[in-house]
Amino acid sequence: MTDAMRLDGIRAGRLGAEDIARNFDDLHPALDRHEATVAADRCYFCHDAPCVTACPTDIDIPLFIRQIATGMPEASAKTIFDQNILGGMCARVCPTETLCEQVCVREVAEGKPVEIGRLQRYATDSLMAEDTHPYTRADATGKTVAVVGAGPAGLSCAHRLAMLGHDVTMFDARTKPGGLNEYGIAAYKTPHDFAQAEVDWLLKIGGITVETGRALGDGLTLQGLRRDFDAVFLGIGLAGVGALGLEGEDLSGTENAVDFIAALRQTDDLTALPVGRHVVVIGGGMTAVDAAVQSRLLGAETVTIAYRRAQDRMPASRWEQDLAATHGVRILSHVQPVALRGDSQLREVELAYVDADMKPSGETLTLRADQLFRAIGQKLETVEGLALSGGKLTVTGAGRTSVDGVWAGGDCALGGEDLTVTAVAEGRDAAMDIHAALTEGRP
Ligand code: SF4
Repeated sequence: MTDAMRLDGIRAGRLGAEDIARNFDDLHPALDRHEATVAADRCYFCHDAPCVTACPTDIDIPLFIRQIATGMPEASAKTIFDQNILGGMCARVCPTETLCEQVCVREVAEGKPVEIGRLQRYATDSLMAEDTHPYTRADATGKTVAVVGAGPAGLSCAHRLAMLGHDVTMFDARTKPGGLNEYGIAAYKTPHDFAQAEVDWLLKIGGITVETGRALGDGLTLQGLRRDFDAVFLGIGLAGVGALGLEGEDLSGTENAVDFIAALRQTDDLTALPVGRHVVVIGGGMTAVDAAVQSRLLGAETVTIAYRRAQDRMPASRWEQDLAATHGVRILSHVQPVALRGDSQLREVELAYVDADMKPSGETLTLRADQLFRAIGQKLETVEGLALSGGKLTVTGAGRTSVDGVWAGGDCALGGEDLTVTAVAEGRDAAMDIHAALTEGRP
């Protein structure tokens, strides 16, 4: 075995502290005032702006950019937060290249869009740096709402409900609120503990109690919540990770990408986080890219993403794919794992080439690997009497589930892409519908 192919299991400290700090620094550093003004001046302030149509939360983008251009970043932030209370996080993690920036007229005409995401970050950072929260609560309605899941959908729903005068109790299975923002997104997209800072800022609205370590099905029942609260919103995400269904899946070194990313996000010392020398990631979404890129940044020598369809069908955006490539991640398409081998520790992964119909072509490829991450479809199994379809809760309108008084949004609900920004929009819209049902007696 050549040195380049040497396997030495999974271990910490492949890179020193300085390299790690540099690797995990902010992916898109903040704009300063001058840079923000120059970037804002590129906007044509289009009438019927296509960027607004492409934004799942319908932020008035030309207005907030104009407010930056005229030296009013705090007013600009308010324009953003009115539609998207997690506008700070979305400015960092939104795939703007496939949303607002993709359709920006300057992208279409010149191949260089207005930097909407970075401008949004500039504006939201300006306002969040202030001590006061920009919203106040309406008069108390006397109504109570349980929000299960303190991720983007739940936080967005809770904030809007609290603002409208309802009392909200949020329950979350983890030890910290934040959901995917805290546990499921690459560290270099949201460094400096921004996710928790944003939750703390959001909760300043008041009227929201957070109970962590409380999960549905584990001491918390939907029936009990419906009895104790006037309405229930579920933003519980998708917990289960699909198995590969292969022998050897229990070998040491084989794990779920979401667990790896969560461990990475929660550690205080990235030099102490173990990673393999040769890593294979199975999947093609953003989680696959986040796990792959972070493995490289921790010092893995070779990282391969194995995706079963054509590369242009990967759920991860082209920009994410390019990010992976620039970090030395190899993307193999039209392959699927057929065997995991090792003694007690994973040693190699056999991949079979498949055609467009996913039929094996007869050719295989064996990769040496001491670590494999599963980053394939997550889905719900059951949720106490609620109708599911394809592993997600069925909803109508603004997140109404099959059970009266229970709404849902974010990744656990059908419809929309599994993006932070979509979850925020769904949580907000469900809150407005809950408010109407509670105060206007709407059925
Ligand atoms: Fe500005 Fe581009 Fe939106 Fe037009 S499409 S308003 S130029 S950001």
